[in-house]
Amino acid sequence: MGKIWLPFASYNLWSLFAPAVGQERWHCDMKRGYAKVRKRESDIAAILAEDTVPQAIGLFAQQGVYEFHADPQRLKDRDGVAQVSQILKLDQESDEVRDRLSRILTLYYENPVLLKKRIFSLSRGDEGFPEPIKLYLGNTAFNLFAAIDCILLEPDGTLHILDLKTGHSDFDERQAFVYLLAASYLFPRQRAIASFYNLELCKWSEPVTATASQLNAIRIELARLAQRHEMEKKQYRRNPAEFDRIFPPNPGFQCQHCPFNRVCQFAAQEISA
Ligand code: SF4
Repeated sequence: MGKIWLPFASYNLWSLFAPAVGQERWHCDMKRGYAKVRKRESDIAAILAEDTVPQAIGLFAQQGVYEFHADPQRLKDRDGVAQVSQILKLDQESDEVRDRLSRILTLYYENPVLLKKRIFSLSRGDEGFPEPIKLYLGNTAFNLFAAIDCILLEPDGTLHILDLKTGHSDFDERQAFVYLLAASYLFPRQRAIASFYNLELCKWSEPVTATASQLNAIRIELARLAQRHEMEKKQYRRNPAEFDRIFPPNPGFQCQHCPFNRVCQFAAQEISA
C-alpha cells in the first residue's frame, strides 16, 4: 500500500509565508503561489528548474565540503582544492560560480572546521527530499521535511546540527528551531543544539537551543502553516482566476530580483527614484 499523503511543512514553506527578520522588503505572497501551487505549469517549472547563482553556489559548497571529508587526504594534498573542483566539474560552470567556489573551497581547505569534529552525518546536498517526519496536532497529522546538512557529536554526547551557508544574508533562527524539532523526533533521547557556519565569511553562529515548550510552539506554528497551505491550494484549484486574491502580489523593488517577474503580470517594471 502506498504512503498516505499528508499536508506538509518545512522551513522553506515557513519562510515563504513570513519573511525572516530584516528580509521584509523582499516578501511577496505571490511568490509562494508560483513556487508551491503553480509549480507544474511548464513556464513556472522551467523557472524553478533554473538553478540561480546563489542556489548553485550553496549546493556546490555543500558538495565540496562533503568531498573533502569523503577522502580527508584531499585536505592534505597540495592539489586538494583542484581535486574537489574537478569532482564537482566546476570548469563547466559560469565564471561567477567558478570564482566564488574556488574561493570557498580554498577557504575551507585552509581552515577545515569539521576536520577535528566527530561527524555523525554529512550530506552531499543532492540526495533529494529527506524522509518526512510525521507530526500530529490534535487529530490532524502533517509531514515535516527537514534536510539537515551535517550532524556533529559533541564530546558530552550532544547532537550538534550544523547548517552550512554561503552568501551574506543573516542566519534565520527559525531554521535552527525546525531542525531542533526534527531532532527531538529523530533522536528523542539526545540533547541537541543547532548552529550555522558561513563558508564564505568563515563565521560560526552562536549555538541555538530550544526548550520543550518552544519546540511545541514551533510544532503548532508548522501545523498551522501546513493546514493553511493546503487550504490555499484547494482555493486555487477551485477558482484559478482568484490567484492574485489568494496570493496577493507585493510589487516593488523586489520584482527586479524575483525569478517569476517574467510571468508575473504585477511585476513592477520601473522603480521611481
Ligand atoms: S514579480 Fe513582483 S509581484 Fe510578481 S511575484 Fe515577483 S515579487 Fe511578487
